[in-house]
Amino acid sequence: MSAIRALPWQQAAWSQLTRARTQSQLSHAWLVSGTHGVGKRAVVAALVASLLCEHTQADGSACGDCKSCKMLLAGGHPDAHLLCLDGHLGLAANASLQREDGITHWQPDKASKRREISIDGVRSLIEGLGLASHRQGNKVAVIAPAEDLSRASADALLKTIEEPTANTFVVLIADQALSLSATLRSRCQQLRLGLPPPDAALDWLQTELPAQDRRSLQAALDLARGAPLTALAQLQDSATPPAIAWRAALDAIASGRGDPMKLAAEIDDDTAIAFLHCCQGWLADRLRAQLGTTAALNGTRVAELNRELHDAHRRLDSNTRAQLVMEAMLIGWVRLLASQAAPSPQSPPMQSRAR
Ligand SMILES: [Zn+2]
Repeated sequence: MSAIRALPWQQAAWSQLTRARTQSQLSHAWLVSGTHGVGKRAVVAALVASLLCEHTQADGSACGDCKSCKMLLAGGHPDAHLLCLDGHLGLAANASLQREDGITHWQPDKASKRREISIDGVRSLIEGLGLASHRQGNKVAVIAPAEDLSRASADALLKTIEEPTANTFVVLIADQALSLSATLRSRCQQLRLGLPPPDAALDWLQTELPAQDRRSLQAALDLARGAPLTALAQLQDSATPPAIAWRAALDAIASGRGDPMKLAAEIDDDTAIAFLHCCQGWLADRLRAQLGTTAALNGTRVAELNRELHDAHRRLDSNTRAQLVMEAMLIGWVRLLASQAAPSPQSPPMQSRAR
């Protein structure tokens, strides 16, 4: 079994945590926040595992092999707690932090709509954390997403966070830290995770999905706005994420073979924003690929293509039908790309090449 580590681009965050721990200054309450899909649960799983592991590695990571690590991986560690919409459960060191067959301390009434983490769940957690450690070590609770806490639940949690029992750590995970109450935020040490550099995200995706070609990974990453775990989920979800098909269609349009009306007809109100992000990524990718070649798009054309994109964004905001917006934008692009392709003494022609 290998060590339980944070993701490759989370080393700075990991160092911050381990440094605090080595200096015995690890806060008893953490708020880990960042864009959806940036890997918050991965760094939290690594932290929890490290706090419970009986043989931590030199870099502070959990060994993955001791009895505590094995119980944690199976969602069966008695000192690892997860509070979420599904209830007060055993925490598992995996991507979702929970296991179907792990410990169940408390579950909400199945008939309830379960749109928030109820106060009964928080009470169950507080009771669990109040017991002595089963393994004479740390006790850890993760609340995810913390935005799901009801107001009463968040209030009930404050005392536990302010006056924790010995060796007790509580970690809140939130996409939007600001949506939590100021009081709750002020009681936690904050760790904010940013998006990884694009190359690091691509390299990681390639390691996760070695059979995928890099262009597909780039397309999925563009669609996920740079969030690697969202991109991975999309790629695993379906063999052909729409971004890949969209990029192929944009390539065809740029080379004069594609049909902008047909592509526009595929975009609806739900996918319009993702499509515009895909167009942005496609344009940036094309520019990167052409840097230093004689076939580069000239600066004026780039600005005009970008202006069409911004116009499309603005018109979507004003509630114009997505398909009409996309038709107008793509026809504008076809016009601009065609005029770019016409040879002129000032600017070399853009090579039409399917990429
Ligand atoms: Zn271990």
